[in-house]
Amino acid sequence: MARTDIGPPHYEQFLPPVIKENYGKWKYHEILKPGVLKHVGETGEIYSVRVGSARLLTIDRIEEYCQLADKYCDGYLRFTSRNNVEFLVSDPAKVEPLLAELKEKGFPVGGTGNALNNIIHTQGWVHCHSAATDASGIVKAVMDELYEYFVDMKLPAKLKISLACCLNMCGAVHCSDIAILGIHRTPPKIQHEWVAKQCEIPTVVASCPTGAIRPNPKEKSVVVNEEKCMYCGNCYTMCPAMPIADPDNDGVAILVGGKVSNARTVPMFSRLAIPYLPNNPPRWPEVTQAIRKLVEVWVQNARPGERYGEWIERIGWEAFFKIADLPFTDKHIDDFIFSVPTFRTSAQFKF
Ligand code: SF4
Ligand code: SF4
Repeated sequence: MARTDIGPPHYEQFLPPVIKENYGKWKYHEILKPGVLKHVGETGEIYSVRVGSARLLTIDRIEEYCQLADKYCDGYLRFTSRNNVEFLVSDPAKVEPLLAELKEKGFPVGGTGNALNNIIHTQGWVHCHSAATDASGIVKAVMDELYEYFVDMKLPAKLKISLACCLNMCGAVHCSDIAILGIHRTPPKIQHEWVAKQCEIPTVVASCPTGAIRPNPKEKSVVVNEEKCMYCGNCYTMCPAMPIADPDNDGVAILVGGKVSNARTVPMFSRLAIPYLPNNPPRWPEVTQAIRKLVEVWVQNARPGERYGEWIERIGWEAFFKIADLPFTDKHIDDFIFSVPTFRTSAQFKF
């Protein structure tokens, strides 16, 4: 096939030789210690050393990672979808010296097995127009609070936390053990004088998932039925004259109990645990404390191997609210709950 300059190069070019040779032929893997995995294939083995990155990285930091990868990994390095950096070491003699240098530099090694994974997050105030809260700021504060669980493997099972800064959720909040979700709580404020100039009204009307927007020909604008609005911000994406951010009312909700894995039990959607916590930068103390408490009740009450949602399913949601000392309010009533059994959510089925 002719080479073009369109699209990324084929990933195979970047695989370490051991991985290329053993592609699809891995026999087993094991976790040697927190953050260090050994994968054994038919014709060789490779060690991955997992380092939690700060997610938003300077070029200097990436250069530092690359220099370490040149020194210990024949230049091979990869980023995981949870923003970890994995050093791929083919020579077992180089694993300990790499760990020593990472320690000296203060780079956290961990996130494997029964540990907290690096938190996956969205854009937040750094970039996105519809963010109800920040992303990297809260995540930094939460990771600082839970650091001990990243570098050790003392949790009942793996713990995946994610953050999405609005309910359109570019993050994995629907399927993480604990989810931090930015929420708007007021409808968009329509700037009528700009709607006709900046927005295509039929598109704005069509953008609303609840059908809350209608044309307002008198003003050459639109009108929002506030009773129907669920504060999703979709209309703002279509129309910059309908801003939804509201510093006094936007905040954070916490959901729990989601998982993607099919192991042991079917995948689960996360559900609302805390409907609202204030946006309190730069360290979000209410959010970090709430998450620490949620982690601690799970640590104290779950059986070995039980993911967050599995633990709750075993004891029941009522018991969970009681143990976690959370009030159950009208906000927790889930209109969509009965749709869950109708979705194919598992690979565990028979024809
Ligand atoms: S979750 Fe929402 S606010 Fe955050 S980056 Fe995605 S669309 Fe933007
Ligand atoms: S915020 Fe969402 S629900 Fe509310 S009017 Fe806009 S698109 Fe509709």
